[in-house]
Amino acid sequence: MSYDPDNIFAKILRGEIPSFKVYEDEQTYCFMDIMPRSAGHCLVIPKTPCRNILDASPEQLCACMATVSTVANAAMKAFGADGITLQQFSEAAGGQEVFHLHFHILPRHSGKSLGPAGVMGDMEVIKAHAEKLIAALG
Ligand code: AMP
Repeated sequence: MSYDPDNIFAKILRGEIPSFKVYEDEQTYCFMDIMPRSAGHCLVIPKTPCRNILDASPEQLCACMATVSTVANAAMKAFGADGITLQQFSEAAGGQEVFHLHFHILPRHSGKSLGPAGVMGDMEVIKAHAEKLIAALG
């Protein structure tokens, strides 16, 4: 399977479609998921192309994991979370819908289930959650 440069996250990286940015460094970009399954649900992606865990280089994976760790700790603070769920889906059979490697960071609270997938969030709430994360990263 090859990388499609017209996938939606590649378009976000090129600034062709908007996103709620949370964090970026030279190698990675973190932004809010617009169909959040928990408050603060965000995504970490490499800035360089790869489809998923099956073709990612060790460098891409290491860079993403460093950012995941940074943002996950900020999310614990920002949302008073009790834990974090980290998800990654590879290929359609694995549940992947957008074919640019991404890791879901889902802040969790004890006893609270994840919300359903595929439900568009309230953009004002998502924006406010991005701001909370940014403040906690400060
Ligand atoms: P998956 O490939 O199964 O990990 O799912 C892709 C994820 O990307 C889903 O959680 C979607 O809600 C999310 N998503 C899709 N389009 C956008 C977008 N334009 N901005 C932010 N998140 C998105």
